[in-house]
Amino acid sequence: MTKYVIGNWKLNPATLTEATTLAHAIKKMADNAGCHVGCTPSFVHLAAVSEILSGSKAWAGVQDVCAFGATGAFTGDVSAAQATDLGAKFAIIGHSERRQYHGEDNALLAKKISQTIEHGLVVVLCIGETKDEYEHGKTLAVLDTQLAVLDGLGVPQEKLLIAYEPVWAIGTGLTPTVFEVANTHRHIKAALANKELDEICVLYGGSVNDKNAAEFASCDVVDGALVGGASLKAESFSVIVQAFEKSA
Ligand code: PEP
Repeated sequence: MTKYVIGNWKLNPATLTEATTLAHAIKKMADNAGCHVGCTPSFVHLAAVSEILSGSKAWAGVQDVCAFGATGAFTGDVSAAQATDLGAKFAIIGHSERRQYHGEDNALLAKKISQTIEHGLVVVLCIGETKDEYEHGKTLAVLDTQLAVLDGLGVPQEKLLIAYEPVWAIGTGLTPTVFEVANTHRHIKAALANKELDEICVLYGGSVNDKNAAEFASCDVVDGALVGGASLKAESFSVIVQAFEKSA
């Protein structure tokens, strides 16, 4: 199975020049890569990054979409329709920072997923437990609750990727063991199969870097990585891409 390595640039970089420089590097690495490579610039950089990546194998995506419509009176929002128009191929939905800082819950995320699918983008749905939930053995129950957002939405298999991102591993340098990730991914895949979604790639995210990528990539149920901090430097992102292409 071809794996996915996706960079989540978050609110980075500070300038358009830095964003386009990184995009040129990603274009180069994606065209030679044996896995799918993508990045999610901030909305203000999307048009420029998308233009650079057009005609290459790399995907540009967005970090969020408006829940309520393609256009209209939604101040501050950017819609899936607008992202599609600028060449985006996918949208990250339900990232833990959106859940934490913007109070996004399943009801709102269901609307965002519907908008994303309606406008032809692939959904990268992020799920993951907090440190407290992890320590109290609640991880799988939390993931089941988060995955319930998919119920009744009729998301086509080919339009969905899941990113398992323990909240406590994001940006901390901490990670679960690969053994733990493997067990969790097996659980996620079984839960998806119960929803008749049995061919979904499950990516791991949370402090993946150039040192630990090979270990995660060697696990047969880790179908790729969602990478934050280490995706902002072409050198480290390229090592991660190579780790996953070797294991594909
Ligand atoms: C993320 O925010 O999706 C992420 C995985 O961040 P980091 O790689 O920096 O932990």
